[in-house]
Amino acid sequence: MITKTALLIKPKRDHLKHLPETEEVIELAETCTECGWCNRTCPGSMPIREAMISAKEGDLDGLADLFHTCINCGKCESSCNRDLPILSMIGRSAQDAIFGEVYTMRAGRGPVLDTEIEAGGELVVHGEVPGIIALVGCSNFSNGHMDVVRIAEEFTSRGYIVVATGCSAMAIAMHRDCDGTTLYEKCPGSFAPGSLLNIGSCVANSHIIGAAIKVAAISAGMPLRGNFEEIADYVLNRVGACGVAWGAMSQKAASIGTGINRWGIPVIVGPHGSKYRRAYLSKKELSDWKLYDKRTEEIVSGEPAPEHLMYPAETVEEAIVAIAKFCIRPSDNAKGRQLKLLNYADLYKKYMGTLPEDLNLFVRNEEDIPITMRGEIMEYLEKVGWKPKKPVAEPSRLGLDEDAFIRKEIDHLITMKDEISRYLETVGLRSEKICRRTEMEDLYGHSNN
Ligand code: SF4
Ligand code: SF4
Repeated sequence: MITKTALLIKPKRDHLKHLPETEEVIELAETCTECGWCNRTCPGSMPIREAMISAKEGDLDGLADLFHTCINCGKCESSCNRDLPILSMIGRSAQDAIFGEVYTMRAGRGPVLDTEIEAGGELVVHGEVPGIIALVGCSNFSNGHMDVVRIAEEFTSRGYIVVATGCSAMAIAMHRDCDGTTLYEKCPGSFAPGSLLNIGSCVANSHIIGAAIKVAAISAGMPLRGNFEEIADYVLNRVGACGVAWGAMSQKAASIGTGINRWGIPVIVGPHGSKYRRAYLSKKELSDWKLYDKRTEEIVSGEPAPEHLMYPAETVEEAIVAIAKFCIRPSDNAKGRQLKLLNYADLYKKYMGTLPEDLNLFVRNEEDIPITMRGEIMEYLEKVGWKPKKPVAEPSRLGLDEDAFIRKEIDHLITMKDEISRYLETVGLRSEKICRRTEMEDLYGHSNN
């Protein structure tokens, strides 16, 4: 039916022209006033005005170059005082690239199998694989698809398991190396070290969370029914995984990210991600990193691992370094921590030119130090006055005294009571919140007000 309809409609649509001819692009560019409003409104701050100036001279390369980084939002067109069809002009200028758009991509495979988790999940928990990286989200990339390709290339080459969905999975297919091969052709598609899996469309993100849940169920034998809290706690403290929504484009993408956070997996969003106004950031040294050790039944000192849960990165280099760091978990054994710190320190040196400033926070004892970087890391640790500490055997955030935290918050509110009351009296208001606070004090037995 669809084919028949298309054949019938075709003659009626033949006379419709969707793109201006090359000469028309130049004529349109000649009417540009060079006001620069398009550059100002473009979310990627792309040099549209400059491309128009070149197009006036007959050089369309500038417009063609915009094609791969443009996200087709149309903001430049709506701000143009000459109503120039900028997107169509870009499309015509990049016609060679558009007609040559043929890519090789691995088909979406759906969930990771239990049998694969039995092998791959064990490797992650026992430190043979430094982490699982999930490249998810839309194509609202600030600098084109190459950023996602770079992340995938960097981590597959280091033995991480990289899983991708939706637009990110497609973006990876859009790059061919000098031999003409894509990353999908170079990396295996099974859940194994150094592999690259296309899990499926963006709704298949749930399979990525499913894989983390399966690790808890299969590796630790945790019951699944009615056990959300314990499984999320296991993933947060044991499964070195990090999500990356580099091109998050909508509230939907942002909420997928925070939905992944609920399961204890940190997520990094790209530069546009900060627009969704939600970040779960720690204060690192200032935060309370206490953990409950289930084996010794004691509350012990932890470490900022993972440091943040929802983190907007400004550049792809910052994101790559943060991904390696966010895979560190309190339960890492010495072998796993060595591998993770080797990647973190090596990537930091590669992109920032020095050792990480917070490396001392993640080295628990000398066994954690990567052998190949031992000399320089020991020198650094001595300089910052590092002291060894005992690794936590079975870390958990369940079992911490949450009531004590709430009481601390209420104490803080109480110290502000007089100040707030005075202010409210001056403006002639009686605060309902103050009354509620009094109820809270009663609840916790405070009598010092
Ligand atoms: S359509 Fe493309 S060039 Fe125009 S504002 Fe959006 S991203 Fe920029
Ligand atoms: S907004 Fe329109 S007229 Fe102004 S520089 Fe951009 S393309 Fe030219």
